[in-house]
Amino acid sequence: MTPPTNAPAWAASAACKGLDSTIFYPATDEEADAAKEVCGVCPVQETCLEHAIEHREHNGVWGGATERERQRIIRRRRRQRSLARAAAS
Ligand code: SF4
Repeated sequence: MTPPTNAPAWAASAACKGLDSTIFYPATDEEADAAKEVCGVCPVQETCLEHAIEHREHNGVWGGATERERQRIIRRRRRQRSLARAAAS
């Protein structure tokens, strides 16, 4: 994958740098294994995932997670924050 010219600094260390970006945009989650393998050895995986969540990236595999998986993470975090607020009150 080639980071865009306005890519954040961490993208320079990405394991996907220079790879064919099409594997990061699979038609279905079931076809995301090739991208996830690359992400699994990427030194900036966590940063990439948090970037995608923060910027609400709707397409592709980021940080080893598909859009559906990122949505699950977002919902889980919301629930955890909600429970923490309820416990604190
Ligand atoms: S985690 Fe995956 S998509 Fe993100 S920079 Fe690394 S290889 Fe690329």
